[in-house]
Amino acid sequence: MITEYLKVAADSVEIYERAGKIIREGGLVAFPTETVYGLGGNAYDPMAAERIFAAKGRPSDNPLIVHVAVPSDAEAFAKTNDIYYKLAEHFMPGPLTVILPKKDNIPDSVTGGLDTVAVRCPEHICANKLIQAAGVPIAAPSANISGCPSPTSAEHVYKDMNGRIPMILDGGESRIGVESTVIRLEEDGCTILRPGEIIARELSAVVGNVYVADAVTDPAAAGDNPESPGMKYKHYAPKARLVLLSGDDRSFADYVNTYKGRCAVLSYSENIGDYLRAFVMNAGSKRSAKEQMQRLFSLLRECDNIDTEIIFAHLPPKKDEFLALYNRIIRAAGSEVIYLDK
Ligand code: AMP
Ligand code: MG
Repeated sequence: MITEYLKVAADSVEIYERAGKIIREGGLVAFPTETVYGLGGNAYDPMAAERIFAAKGRPSDNPLIVHVAVPSDAEAFAKTNDIYYKLAEHFMPGPLTVILPKKDNIPDSVTGGLDTVAVRCPEHICANKLIQAAGVPIAAPSANISGCPSPTSAEHVYKDMNGRIPMILDGGESRIGVESTVIRLEEDGCTILRPGEIIARELSAVVGNVYVADAVTDPAAAGDNPESPGMKYKHYAPKARLVLLSGDDRSFADYVNTYKGRCAVLSYSENIGDYLRAFVMNAGSKRSAKEQMQRLFSLLRECDNIDTEIIFAHLPPKKDEFLALYNRIIRAAGSEVIYLDK
């Protein structure tokens, strides 16, 4: 299959028309969002979901997120409620995915056989234009080969999907860089199933209690039948061994500098000059979870282009705005952590 690669802006009307038609007719289009790039298909078409799983090499029990142009569009396929609309008022369009009971018109292949459906209304203008042009909700996971880091640029998508899908829309780098916050609604609040840019403190101001699923910080807690199927899969790992170090900046640098083999380091920008022999990559400021999130997946992909046997990175704090970072990097490292402070 020939993959068309097109740069898009808000006013690329003809391109959205063509892309929307591909989706309506059962084909796939990769598109930019503020979190990561998505691989979209018609959410009402079971064959489109099958094509998504095939293109990604993704296990088909791992459900897709259904993207809408405005929050009320979810009425067509999900059972909404007051809390959903309250959340929508504060966080949509934006990087929040809400799990709701599904209606019968959403095929099982989209929800991995679950009786719930994940709903998101992206803020990226190109994603919004595409959904409107398609005229149907768009089911989309991240547009990477299963197991690889999610794509934060159209170049990443091209590398994974060239020859596998008919069209890639290039709308520039993703602003956030990690996937959306996924929540399940509870009687008295909500539970975070996957952390993202929207954090517990912000959700709590709107819905009351916010719980965090165990598997968010402990991949092993996901088990075989987790609350959110994506929790159980290996994710984001570079080819070289990634090891997280927990300790102050001095002991981190000392550990890296005494390592005997070929090594690389995902360094805080403040500490770039501290390493003697390691190949150094700038992971962003120690103080900015947002900057580190925006760079993480791109850096994990870059790790595969350098000749190293091991990559060292900081173990992020296990809280609030760093939780999405912690959740992604602990999976990328296969939970391999060395505590320098114990
Ligand atoms: P991704 O394509 O990587 O953004 O993955 C979407 C993720 O959303 C899945 O891996 C699931 O973990 C989660 N998800 C989607 N639908 C549901 C659902 N109905 N219930 C719980 N989690 C869901
Ligand atoms: Mg994904």
